Amino acid sequence: MRLGVRGKVFVAFLGLAVVVGLAGGLYLDRELGRLEESEQQHELLRHARSARAAAHALDAARGAGQRAANPEIDALADQLGASTNSRITFIDDHGTVIADSALTAEGLLHEENHSHRPEVIAAMSGREDVVTRFSTTVGKDLLYGAVPWPERHGVVRAAMALDSGQDVLAHQRRLLLLAAAFGLFVAVLMSALISHLAASALGTLVTNARAVLSGGQRRMPVSSEDELGHIAGSLNRLADERSQTIEALVKERDRLNAVLNGVTDGLVALDAGNRIEIVNPAAVQLLGLSESPEGKTLVEAVRAPELIELIERNRDASASAEIALGDPARHLLVRIAPLRATTGGSVLVLHDVTDLRTMELMRRDLVANVSHELRTPVSIIRANAETLLDGGALEDPAQARAFIQAMYRHAERLSNLLSDLLDLARIEGGAYPLCLENIPLRQAVQRAVDTLQRTAKNKSVSVQVVVDAELAAYADNQALDQVLVNLLDNAIKYSFDGGSVDITAVREKEQVRIAISDDGPGIQERHRARVFERFYRVDAGRSRALGGTGLGLSIVKHLVGLMHGAVGVDPVEPHGSTFWVTLPVATQPERSASNHRAA
Ligand code: ADP
Repeated sequence: MRLGVRGKVFVAFLGLAVVVGLAGGLYLDRELGRLEESEQQHELLRHARSARAAAHALDAARGAGQRAANPEIDALADQLGASTNSRITFIDDHGTVIADSALTAEGLLHEENHSHRPEVIAAMSGREDVVTRFSTTVGKDLLYGAVPWPERHGVVRAAMALDSGQDVLAHQRRLLLLAAAFGLFVAVLMSALISHLAASALGTLVTNARAVLSGGQRRMPVSSEDELGHIAGSLNRLADERSQTIEALVKERDRLNAVLNGVTDGLVALDAGNRIEIVNPAAVQLLGLSESPEGKTLVEAVRAPELIELIERNRDASASAEIALGDPARHLLVRIAPLRATTGGSVLVLHDVTDLRTMELMRRDLVANVSHELRTPVSIIRANAETLLDGGALEDPAQARAFIQAMYRHAERLSNLLSDLLDLARIEGGAYPLCLENIPLRQAVQRAVDTLQRTAKNKSVSVQVVVDAELAAYADNQALDQVLVNLLDNAIKYSFDGGSVDITAVREKEQVRIAISDDGPGIQERHRARVFERFYRVDAGRSRALGGTGLGLSIVKHLVGLMHGAVGVDPVEPHGSTFWVTLPVATQPERSASNHRAA
């Protein structure tokens, strides 16, 4: 059985009380016995001395030199024996018993000589002595106290049954037992009280400590200055330190989370087994991870053998490498740093370089395309110039004119190319200022038609315009002109001779939709989405022959985008294309007043 504090304190106190009580009782009992014995011895000697004094007085009463007769002394012995409740014996110098309170005169005659009795020997030699011995005369243990009787050179002896003092002793023992029983009862009560007080104080301390440790209570009440009060104080200090530590840890965690959430680079901390310990939102997005990948291994979370291999190869050293993930490929610059300070593992920093790589690719493509576009006109101009400089062609004006006309055409193509490239560079570089305003569409379309009237006429292409006079778009005048001229130019350019082009503009909810349809050869579906890319041509030879740069539709797309619109191409049955542009409609008068410039 397990004892609680209350039980232990109770048993300890009770045990202590019983042990102390028992030891005290035994000691007291022994001391009382001794006291009683010594008291009895003194009493005996006192009786013997009194008897001696009485005998002396008897002798003195006889006059000088006279002695009391033995029967007189025997009568004295009987009298004294009765009054002191003891046996009084007078012994002469030969050891003969001359008077004895326990013997009759007859008995005296048969009493043996006492000269060999130890107390008698001691008293004969002048010493008082007390001995215990079995008396054959009275048949029990007697205590004998003998004193010298100098008048007769004999001995006066007093004897008493040994058990006569035992009654007193037994009575005292009974009192002692009663006191011990009472003491035990008090000890039980006190032990119960003390154990109760100690246990309840400890119980309160334990309950409060539990409440503080579980967080239900902030501090423990300190109600006393004793050891329990000190324990409560110490626990309070511990609780304070604990809450300070928790506060510091929470702050640290919040700071770390703020950093992790704030950085645009991906951060992943892996343990020695490549399990994800910490991951920030940027890494979740870059690696295409599930919402909470913590605890999973990287192999489970990401399908990227390249990344795993990179980590495996660089367990102990920092390294960086670029990897491509997913489709379409996302290019990531991965830096790995091993975590030597802790239990191993590593930290990955992921930097998205997809845009950088795309830009590089575009720049390379642009340089290649521009070089390609420049090469033909420049070499034709150069060849024609050389031919003319050689002199032969110059002599023939008709031939010279043909050469110079070719040079002019190609120079114009170069000029168009440079102008388109510059436009694109300005638009993409944010250097094409827009002034958005309400623009009546019928006038804008008419301006484009007027600009290309000659071109249309040269190809006998008829242009029909159906635009509501009230319709207006919220756009930039110059940009809209450039868009319409480009689209109409293409429509005329790619129409068959004698073809027709229709320009319509209608309102569709909050937008206007301008459509330019031709009945030319049309554009196959696989080319349709790509014709808005830079330098993309369905038929490069035909485009070049027609003076095209391959940049017109790309410029259109950029400009429409700047004006918050959209552009597209649909086929026309049985042949032909419809290029359409949507722009925000401008109907509210206040919008026309609020011009703004956008890059
Ligand atoms: P280009 O200067 O070559 O005309 P664009 O960017 O204006 O360049 O057009 C890209 C390509 O789209 C052209 O080369 C041509 O093949 C095709 N295209 C454009 N407009 C039309 C059209 N109306 N009909 C048929 N094809 C067209």
